[in-house]
Amino acid sequence: MMEGLDRSHPLSLYIHVPFCTRKCDYCAFYSEPLASCPQDSISRYLDILLKEIHALNDDWKKPYRTIFIGGGNPGILGYGNIRRIVEAASEHGRPEEATAELNPENVTEDIESLSGCLTRISVGIQSLDETTLRTLGRNASRLSSIRALSILSGSSFRWNADIITAVPGESIDDALRDIDGIASFSPGHISYYCLSFEEGTPLIGREKPIGEEMEREFLRAGWKRLRELGYKHYEVSNFAKEGERCMHSEVYWHLGQYAGFGPGAESSVGWREAVSMRENETLSGYLSSPMLTCTPLTAAETEEEFLLTALRTSDGISKEGYRERFGRDFDSVYGSRIRGIPKESYRNSSSSFSLTEEGFLILDWIILHMAMVL
Ligand code: SF4
Repeated sequence: MMEGLDRSHPLSLYIHVPFCTRKCDYCAFYSEPLASCPQDSISRYLDILLKEIHALNDDWKKPYRTIFIGGGNPGILGYGNIRRIVEAASEHGRPEEATAELNPENVTEDIESLSGCLTRISVGIQSLDETTLRTLGRNASRLSSIRALSILSGSSFRWNADIITAVPGESIDDALRDIDGIASFSPGHISYYCLSFEEGTPLIGREKPIGEEMEREFLRAGWKRLRELGYKHYEVSNFAKEGERCMHSEVYWHLGQYAGFGPGAESSVGWREAVSMRENETLSGYLSSPMLTCTPLTAAETEEEFLLTALRTSDGISKEGYRERFGRDFDSVYGSRIRGIPKESYRNSSSSFSLTEEGFLILDWIILHMAMVL
């Protein structure tokens, strides 16, 4: 039984697939190159994962609101196993949205075999420029990426393409060319992230970050282009056409309830005082004992978590929703802090508080500044 579940609010499900073909040079997510894992790793992983899903089904007894299979590279499991996971999680009814992340090389003509099971695909394109792909140490080539884009554009799925920008050696024109090239296949959703340099990755020893000021230039230029192409900037790094937002991500950003299974996956359940859980970080640890930690959060910690995620969205914080959840008046709690934020960085109406694009550029500072009252 999952501690802290609030049965009056929906629950979503995240599945972490811990395998990749090979590690990309910038990646700090937990995943293992499949070739270096024991031969039966996928089947042992699936056994444990499906047991966890069935145990939660028995506890929850209702459909999950959304399901997201991420990683790692879920495509490595094959479409049949992706279907098995979604079917297991749909025991009490279909979710409103079921997404799987795929790498370009795993998007094949057979993708329609997943319709009726998945509703949405997210493909990690990152760039269409061969030099940028090499700098990132990606497996996919420009050609395999274009092939994946063209299959998805003709498919029945809603879909997203990820783009990484501010890559050393890349110009703003190159970044805009990536956006234009990918948008020409008409994804409903585009994620546009700055490359981050993570400790322990090959990238950090080989390349230098382009610097915060330049990063802001890449973001400003990319955001403008995406808006011109008809995408709404609804979260710091995410853009969607009408009706194409990622429902699962919105659960995170509004600190809804989600259970996470698979190595290193996190859960957050409960409402006023959330309970945070984390699965065993490594594949071998997960296979012997999946759950690692369970941390009840105080009301102030839950509110800080909520602030941290909700301010990432263009909808921001609904003042009525805040009062219902935390039992306090938003303006009384945060009014004095808001007065210290540059005016062009936020919108503050009687019903909501949210950040503008200028605010997104100083998001970390704003969150720290506002959280000082907690
Ligand atoms: S495919 Fe994704 S998860 Fe795997 S190494 Fe590359 S970036 Fe990391």
